[in-house]
Amino acid sequence: MDARGVDSFESMSNIPKEERARLARSFSLELPRVVERTEPASDGSRKYLFVLDDGNRIEAVFMPMGERTSICLSSQAGCAVGCTFCVTGFFGAGRNLRPSEMIGQFHTVRREHAIPMELLNVVFMGMGEPLLNFENVATTLEILETQIAPKRITISTSGIIPGIEELAKLERRPNLAVSINAPDRKRREEIMPITRKYPLADLIDCLRRFPLEKGREMTIEYVLLAGYNDAPSDGAALARLIRGLHAKVNVIPFNEDPNLPPWMKRPTEEAIDDFVESLVDHGAKVTVRRSKGREIAAACGQLRGRGESIRRRDSSGHAASGNSRSGV
Ligand code: SAH
Ligand code: SF4
Repeated sequence: MDARGVDSFESMSNIPKEERARLARSFSLELPRVVERTEPASDGSRKYLFVLDDGNRIEAVFMPMGERTSICLSSQAGCAVGCTFCVTGFFGAGRNLRPSEMIGQFHTVRREHAIPMELLNVVFMGMGEPLLNFENVATTLEILETQIAPKRITISTSGIIPGIEELAKLERRPNLAVSINAPDRKRREEIMPITRKYPLADLIDCLRRFPLEKGREMTIEYVLLAGYNDAPSDGAALARLIRGLHAKVNVIPFNEDPNLPPWMKRPTEEAIDDFVESLVDHGAKVTVRRSKGREIAAACGQLRGRGESIRRRDSSGHAASGNSRSGV
């Protein structure tokens, strides 16, 4: 599949015939194969599970958002960063996805819903850490940007400082979203061990240097864990930490999962409201990801995660029923 949605070299009429035949012998335009689609959630969101040619499984999410639609893509088949609240992190490192595999997710989801390009946003918020697959993600951006404006594309990162610095050098930069998730270094080290390599203070400095185009702001993502980082005082500390950054906070209530530590719970609606209020009182701009589909997207990896735990149970001799896959 190429950027124009053409799915065979034979149909690329702008390329000479012999060249087309040579390309067809050397490369593949095959799309990753969809093995499972969730039923649309109440807001129309749908999650797709793909299998790649080497058997790796990855996810993408279709998210209608009013006038526009977002497609959430995976950048790696797994993740080595190992955040303790993340199912993808729990299952560990995988390989980097090739540009064709990222573009393939995009076109497969887009085609099923026939959304015009000009109404699409693309977010690299699925499985994996996009800035640890920088070259392939940069190539994918170049391809996408032939049809989608960079301001419609967002890269979400756990705070890989050298990757953010590389991103800053791109001429056509996507939006930047950074998963901060804790109001201080100690707690961030506990739930995001990568903080030991890229300390929180250095990360915030790096964000202060990031060149933002006029009219744009970055996103600070904050996964809200009940009783851990959801106190109003944590909201105040977060607002102080990011003061002066041209940013909005996206509060993501934790999405529970059987593969994650049992103490990790989604806060009550009241606690979420109090946290948001505290952020706002301390001068932050805030959005909250409340609806089911958004949470599905935030916790990319959970659909594959269910399959993996089923496989594990299978190998230990306990037959898993197909029913355990239903009910996203
Ligand atoms: N690796 C990148 C992008 C993929 S994760 C990153 O970490 O930013 C996308 C978002 O999902 C991140 O903000 C992450 O903090 C959030 N997330 C991961 N697991 C989650 C869970 N169980 N519940 C809610 N949000 C989660
Ligand atoms: Fe990787 Fe992002 Fe999950 Fe952390 S939250 S383990 S960086 S995918």
